[in-house]
Amino acid sequence: MSTAGKSTSGIEKAVAEDGFRVQPKGFATKAIHVGQEPEQWKCMSVVPPISMSTTFKQFGPSHHAGFDYGRSGNPTRAVLEKCIASLDNGKYGLTFSSGLGVVTAVITMLKAGDHIIAGNTLYGGTLCLFKDVAKKMNMSVDFVDTTDLAKVEAVLKPNSKLVWIESPTNPLLKVVDIEALCAVVHKVPGMVVVVDNTFLTSFFQRPLDLGADIVMYSLTKYMNGHSDVLMGAAVMNDEALYEKLKFLQNATGIVPSPFDCYLVNRGLKTLALRMERHRTSSLAVAKFLEKHPKIERVLHPGLTSHPQHELAKRQSFGHCGMLSFYLKGGLEESSQFLKSLEVITLAESLGGFESVMKLPSRMPPGLVPAEHREALGITDTLIRFSVGLEDVDDLIGDLKQALEKL
Ligand SMILES: *Cc1c(COP(=O)(O)O)cnc(C)c1O
Repeated sequence: MSTAGKSTSGIEKAVAEDGFRVQPKGFATKAIHVGQEPEQWKCMSVVPPISMSTTFKQFGPSHHAGFDYGRSGNPTRAVLEKCIASLDNGKYGLTFSSGLGVVTAVITMLKAGDHIIAGNTLYGGTLCLFKDVAKKMNMSVDFVDTTDLAKVEAVLKPNSKLVWIESPTNPLLKVVDIEALCAVVHKVPGMVVVVDNTFLTSFFQRPLDLGADIVMYSLTKYMNGHSDVLMGAAVMNDEALYEKLKFLQNATGIVPSPFDCYLVNRGLKTLALRMERHRTSSLAVAKFLEKHPKIERVLHPGLTSHPQHELAKRQSFGHCGMLSFYLKGGLEESSQFLKSLEVITLAESLGGFESVMKLPSRMPPGLVPAEHREALGITDTLIRFSVGLEDVDDLIGDLKQALEKL
């Protein structure tokens, strides 16, 4: 079956239990069926085969069945790309060997002299690519608070080509008004807005429907969801953009392996179920932490105390498992707390079935200069929590016992 681009038109405005927009019908069906048609394989395989071949027999010179060389295209990868595109109501999907591979491909679409606008709290690796790599290629970059549209407008220049944002941002969970930002930025002809949708996934937010040109993912996180694959994706509607990125996917060689494509495709089959559980558990955990006397403040867009709670409810279909909180005390208290955890793992990354916590100010060390971090609010008591799929009572029990030790 093919339901890409049609089943979720007419976004319902009804209000869900936690106040977010109601999920349009059809998402899980698309995640399970789009691109997976058994009829495309001679053996009628219901699960798409893993095609490891790097080369494909040709009928005649440059006359082939759709694939010639594994870097240029692969049947298992094509299945995944179709499925991912459909989830964002997008026409075209492309996968890359990691989330940062997408950033690299997008940067190499630009040229020396071009100007980039990026959010001032971004995933550390993305920040590093813009700061240390794009600048070396003689592109200029302004990092601004993209929740303040006046600040974005103030740095727009005739040579501006790209705006890169996350919403909610990492690790402070600030919400950017994507529709309003796109309206401002698109006044400059040819501007490309990229939204890193890794946190919310296509299940909770559809940036293309809000006016973005490209939605990108670290599939490493929720989309795969099992902490066993590194991969990235870009989804778009514009054919010219797609042709450019498809060329670069092949030309730069930043491609994923067919086996990993199989795993991510499998992960997508349970995305809707997983995200619903992440949503309810993270809200329960956030409410528990907000009431605890040893907690200073909790950042979670689903809480009424979140400064952009209304905007989050308006533009997303729910919130994922990500939240951050400030402990009372200092580095000693946050270290002690993180070392006392028994169910939750102290580790990098997010979006897997397992709960993990990290201290963004120190992990990884030295990524963002200390003054810059403090100014943004990334202090030594800010803890980022990726709430996993364990029984929520066990997670709350773990938080309780670790907080009691302080
Ligand atoms: C992990 C992550 C990335 C980078 O993705 P990789 O797959 O690790 O290269 C980019 N953006 C966000 C929000 C992430 O969490």
